[in-house]
Amino acid sequence: YFKSNTVAFLDGEFVQADQATCGVYAQSLHYGYAVFEGIRAYNTPQGTQIFKAQEHFERLQYSCRVIGLPLSYSVEEMTEITYELLEKNNLTDAYIRPLVYAATPNMSLKCPTTSNLLIAVWDWGKYLGDQCLRLTVSPYERPNPKAVPIEAKVAGHYVNSIIASTEAKNRGYDEALLLDMNGFVAEGPGANFFFEKNGELFTAPAGSILRGITRNTIIDLAREAGITVHEKFFRPAELQGATGAFMTGTAAEVVGVESVDGESFAKPFKETLGAMLAEQYQALVTGAGALRSRPLAERQA
Ligand code: PMP
Repeated sequence: YFKSNTVAFLDGEFVQADQATCGVYAQSLHYGYAVFEGIRAYNTPQGTQIFKAQEHFERLQYSCRVIGLPLSYSVEEMTEITYELLEKNNLTDAYIRPLVYAATPNMSLKCPTTSNLLIAVWDWGKYLGDQCLRLTVSPYERPNPKAVPIEAKVAGHYVNSIIASTEAKNRGYDEALLLDMNGFVAEGPGANFFFEKNGELFTAPAGSILRGITRNTIIDLAREAGITVHEKFFRPAELQGATGAFMTGTAAEVVGVESVDGESFAKPFKETLGAMLAEQYQALVTGAGALRSRPLAERQA
C-alpha cells in the first residue's frame, strides 16, 4: 500500500509510513478495540477533493464515542491533516484510512484514557474490481446489533467480514452477502447491497448494517432522479424477479451484481438503474459535487 517514500500521519507528526509501528502489547491488537474509516479523495476540476470528509470524520468520532475510545481531534483538524498528507504524498486520487487505536500496553478490559491516530493514504483502485460480482449468501450472519454497535466502524467487527468473504471465495464466488440474525439480507463484508425490482430500488434499513455514506449518496441520487427507494427488510427469496443489483461502498464505489447463488438477475447490469447511478456517482465524486468537503480554510474564505 505504500511505496518507500510514503508519508503517514501518526500522533501529531508526519512520519515515514514504513517507520510507523505499534507494539505487540497494544490493547487494540489484543482485543480488536479500534475504529477506522475508509475515505476517498478524487482529482476534480477544483483540485483534489476529499469526498464527504465531514460525514466520514463525524462517523469516526461517532464510532469512538460508542465504544468509549477517546479521540482528541476535531473533524476540521482531521480534514486539514488529510489534505496536507495527500499533498505530501503527491496523491490526487487516493484511499484514506484513519485508524484510532490504543497503543498503550494494557491487557485490561477497561476503556483506555488515551488513544492514537494514524492516517494512511494510498492509491487504490475499485476494491471489488470493475466486473459484476457473483455473490453467495454467507453461512455467517452479520453481528447481532445487541452484541456490538454495528453502526460503528469497529476494527473487531471485520473478523466477521474476513471470514465471510474468505468462505465465499473458497466456494468459488466473488463475494459474500450476509444476512442479519433474523434472516433478512443485511450487507456485504465491506459494502451495502441494493436490488432493483419494477423500476424501484430496495436496500436493507438501518439496524443490522453499517449505514454506508455511499449508500446515502446513492439513495439521494436515486430520489433526485425520481426513483423510489425502499429501505426495508427483505429475505433472499425476494430477489427472485429482480432486474438487477449492486453494491456500494467508499472503496468499492458502485459495482454491479451479476448473480446471487447462481441465480442471475433479469437484465445485464449496464441496462439497470444501478449502472446509471454508478455513472452519476462517478460524476459527483470527480466533479463539482465533491466541493462540499473542501478544506476549512477555503470554506471560510
Ligand atoms: N458495510 C460495511 C460492513 C462496510 O465495511 C462498508 C465500508 N465502509 C460499507 C458497508 C459501506 O460504507 P461506506 O459507503 O460508508 O464506505
